[in-house]
Amino acid sequence: MTDTATQSAAATGTAIDETYDVPADATAYTCSYCGRPFARESWLALHRGLAHPSELDDEEVEAFRAAHDEEEASLSAFRLQALGALVLIYFGFLMVYALV
Ligand SMILES: [Zn+2]
Repeated sequence: MTDTATQSAAATGTAIDETYDVPADATAYTCSYCGRPFARESWLALHRGLAHPSELDDEEVEAFRAAHDEEEASLSAFRLQALGALVLIYFGFLMVYALV
């Protein structure tokens, strides 16, 4: 009777992969607190504000607020466009259903 205890599969946990694959010719904006690279400066500013809020200086806080406002404006524009697309699809199907 061989009793092999294979319980180690559940013990692997959720380790976050800390290695990033940045192309050699790409310009990366690297976080000075944790070293994570970002393709855009505004994404780095957002990351700094969300991941390291207590360590920022005034200039970084200002950059985070500007990036956050820009992201909010872009998100509300997207929501409006998505709602418009849904309304068009809904009434399009309604008209097709009414005519066919
Ligand atoms: Zn960071």
